[in-house]
Amino acid sequence: MISNLLAGLLGYPLGHTVSPVLHRAAAAQFNMDLNYFPFEVEKHNLKDALKGMQVLGFSGCNVTIPYKEHILEFVTEQSDVVKFLGAANTLTFRGNMIFADNTDWEGFLRSWDESGLGSIEGKSAVILGAGGAADAVFYALVRRGIKETYIFNRDKERGEKLAEKFAGSYPNLQCKAYALSYKSGLSSILKTADILINTTPSGMHPAPENMPVSIPSTINESLVYYDLIYNPVKTKLAQELEKRGIKTACGLGMLVHQAALAFKRWFGMEPNPAPMFEKAMEILGK
Ligand code: NAP
Repeated sequence: MISNLLAGLLGYPLGHTVSPVLHRAAAAQFNMDLNYFPFEVEKHNLKDALKGMQVLGFSGCNVTIPYKEHILEFVTEQSDVVKFLGAANTLTFRGNMIFADNTDWEGFLRSWDESGLGSIEGKSAVILGAGGAADAVFYALVRRGIKETYIFNRDKERGEKLAEKFAGSYPNLQCKAYALSYKSGLSSILKTADILINTTPSGMHPAPENMPVSIPSTINESLVYYDLIYNPVKTKLAQELEKRGIKTACGLGMLVHQAALAFKRWFGMEPNPAPMFEKAMEILGK
């Protein structure tokens, strides 16, 4: 038994996070005695919280909403992906150093591949939302050779900024941004789009009756849908799309894989995601 290992999660608020369960399920595979603590920390205490974890011998921590961007102020080194995204979800402590990385985008791709939603290369995608998760997903799509992307966000300007960032770095990519309220535009694009991804929290617990958009009467029959929400495991929008014959996947796979990748950053060993997924499903319900 490898004993007394420490890791944690920084966020505010945290509610009932699944992360401790995921990391315990990962540690069990290597007979490791890992203590993973969720820490609800206020913004003005973030720096001290990091110092505390370093002093206490933590191997690393995850970072979640709303600190994925702000945390970069306190790290000593950033991976290239973090530099591009401007956000980190995984910190690794080594002596006085704090390395920031982002495993969300790769977690998304691994989950995508497991979900059997098909290839991304050369396809067109509609992304609902333009926050940190949209940024990571956009990056993942670009890495896999997406051809066209359409961002729909409540705050149109925020969507435009995200589109400009990617267009500036990837000149062959076609990307446009619209307001989420531009229903006729969404209807028209969904007639031919290959991929629809929800990165907004609309439809998430405790308001599962919500949907970020309503489904237009005509959509591409071979559209595939990925919802980053994992609680509930199947959102109302995913259910509605399935009734229309659309293949869907939920964000639990992404959550599991980003955790498995973080675990590897800290401890050097990559856990099997299947037992982590099972434990999460026990909590979230089938
Ligand atoms: P964020 O940076 O705060 O961005 C939230 C985005 O959602 C913004 O674009 C915001 O639009 C939009 N939005 C918020 N409430 C909305 C509503 N009621 N209707 C329509 N749009 C709404 O948050 P984030 O980090 O991107 O996270 C977004 C979601 O992804 C959360 O539900 C989070 O749990 C999930 N997530 C899942 C995973 C996973 O592993 N499965 C990983 C990361 C995130 P405005 O810009 O107009 O405010």
